[in-house]
Amino acid sequence: MRPHETPAEFRGVPERRLLKIVDGLTFARGDLTPEQCAWHSDRPGAPIPDLPWGAVLVAPVTGSYDADSQPRATDADARSDAPRNGVPQIRLARADAAAPGDVVELLPERNRLRTRYRRGANANTLFATERCNSYCLMCSQPPRRVDDDWRVNDMLEVIALLDRDVPELGISGGEPTLLGDGLVAILRACRDRLPDTPLHVLSNGRRFGTTALADAVAGLRHPRLTWGVPFYADVADVHDYVVQSAGAFDETLHGLLMMASKGLSFEIRVVLTAPTVARLPALADFIWRHLPAAVHVAFMGLEPIGFALANHDALWINPADMAEPLTRAVHHLANRGMAVSLYNLPLCVLPAALRPFARRSISDWKQRYLDTCDGCAVRARCAGFFEWVKPGWIPHGLHALNAAEVSET
Ligand code: SF4
Repeated sequence: MRPHETPAEFRGVPERRLLKIVDGLTFARGDLTPEQCAWHSDRPGAPIPDLPWGAVLVAPVTGSYDADSQPRATDADARSDAPRNGVPQIRLARADAAAPGDVVELLPERNRLRTRYRRGANANTLFATERCNSYCLMCSQPPRRVDDDWRVNDMLEVIALLDRDVPELGISGGEPTLLGDGLVAILRACRDRLPDTPLHVLSNGRRFGTTALADAVAGLRHPRLTWGVPFYADVADVHDYVVQSAGAFDETLHGLLMMASKGLSFEIRVVLTAPTVARLPALADFIWRHLPAAVHVAFMGLEPIGFALANHDALWINPADMAEPLTRAVHHLANRGMAVSLYNLPLCVLPAALRPFARRSISDWKQRYLDTCDGCAVRARCAGFFEWVKPGWIPHGLHALNAAEVSET
């Protein structure tokens, strides 16, 4: 797994900036200037085109980093691949930390390079804001009251550097709609640069019913935009308890109905927690009756990070203990023609009747398998676990599936 951040040695990079990593093919097929790019020199001695690159990424040298992967000064200028004419230079701790097509953020004050977009990853997400108007018990990104509207221009910069054929892109937070017109500008930029790229925005939907946001978004006519909206129960007190915000159920429902009325595409996301599983069949019926415009309903296992860690005892339930209401809910929707998926749940702890709905949903940079998974016949299509899973978050009944069991899935 390639890290999001990696130690790097910078020469001639005075301040933070964003660049796209290019080789000859990526640069020739793209529409960026050399100044927007970092030339990827993957082997010592390889020639570097004499253009005014934003930077040149030179191959790591054995011994140029100490035992903690911190950069150590090297006499790089003496090497044959050292860039000339004062072009800034980046040397990474590991050769696979960045590759052509990636968008990276140079952090010279910290001697780090952060990957903001990774070509070929199964998920790439723009982080919109740390702020949120909810305070969910299992929030994976605990909100902070900060002024981070600067992220709007930052995201616009990243979007301008993306491949035009990005397979899919996400936007998350925090609550992205708190950016207001800034979010609309971001969606417009995605529409204009990436019109064929499915764009998925995670939002609690609460501001769609109380602001002019739905009209503004509908006016963009983005052809591939879908909103992912969490909805946890068919009754207000359960939903508001999970969200930790009185009135959230009414606002979200109002927002979803507004989105439907404006023709916006949305999916419903149901995180599976102890307080909500008993009402899953009722929630499924509620969705079918009142929100049939939903293009997809995803039932999601908990991510053991953020607030979920502090609320483990209130939230955790073994998949085996939710099998009956989850099966009824999934089949209630699927039997009525709605698209349904299960995310973040290992195949081996699901009843056979639910396995066809399970997806390999965890982003590759934060996914792992356990020792039990060695030799499992369905490992390649199992969601597995979050990288940071710990005892207490591992389901009972894990077992490697054999070929006979696989035929049932
Ligand atoms: S044992 Fe197989 S089915 Fe179970 S979690 Fe591991 S890979 Fe998935």
